[in-house]
Amino acid sequence: MSEQTVQERMKNVKHTILVLSGKGGVGKSTCALQLATSLSLLGMKVGLLDTDVCGPSLPTMTGKTNCDVIQSADGWSPVPVTDNLSVMSIGFLLPNQDDPVVWRGPRKTGMITQFLTLTNFGQLDYLIIDTPPGTSDEHLAIVQSLTAARPDGCVLVSTPQDVATLDVRKEISFARKMNITTLGFIENMSGFACPDCSHVTHIFGKGGGEALAREAAIPFLGHVPLDPELAEAEETGAVFLEQHPDSATAAAWRSISQALL
Ligand code: ADP
Repeated sequence: MSEQTVQERMKNVKHTILVLSGKGGVGKSTCALQLATSLSLLGMKVGLLDTDVCGPSLPTMTGKTNCDVIQSADGWSPVPVTDNLSVMSIGFLLPNQDDPVVWRGPRKTGMITQFLTLTNFGQLDYLIIDTPPGTSDEHLAIVQSLTAARPDGCVLVSTPQDVATLDVRKEISFARKMNITTLGFIENMSGFACPDCSHVTHIFGKGGGEALAREAAIPFLGHVPLDPELAEAEETGAVFLEQHPDSATAAAWRSISQALL
């Protein structure tokens, strides 16, 4: 499977965006899914590729845990989520979704190249790629294998706590090391969205993300509050943006995705 065949596949894709975070649990897969859904609701054809080979969470978040990927002469068909959105994840290829994937770097990069080469998303306006978390050399190798997809750039995701430490700076320099444009920075779990009135309370203050983005000369895409309804939708595989379109959280995702158009 050569890099050229990855590029052949990518000819059908207008824009590719990588979603990165310095560590797990900050909402990287959430961002990948909500950006993909939001773009698809704007009428774009969107593919979502889960390359987090060690912790694929998108099958659960899209409510597609028991779906099989169909293999044909044209490659692997991704699983449809809505009319305009389909998803491909290693989770679909594991015999048991609870099985851990314990692979070393070269095997992971091989799998990712295979994903890029074999998945037949058809014509896409956007391909959103959820990447494994981290900023180590192993992650660098994995993310470099994704550059064969010629991404437009990456979106960095962090929590306000990470903004207060060195973690986000590490993420920014990781993206620079990869020579990938940083399209913007999202501060996730920023404030708390009340499930009764949707009002967002910034318990730990607000503004750290914007200040850091300014200092690093990267675009700040927005804050997304910690929202129990978002967590619940992702746990049950519901489409959050369709279920809670009038919430502050849905408005945040829409504004972030529009900033990326
Ligand atoms: P990562 O990909 O960085 O490991 P996930 O996207 O899997 O993180 O998120 C970890 C958990 O936090 C998931 O259960 C997800 O539903 C939840 N979560 C992420 N962002 C939010 C948010 N803004 N509000 C509520 N829950 C969230």
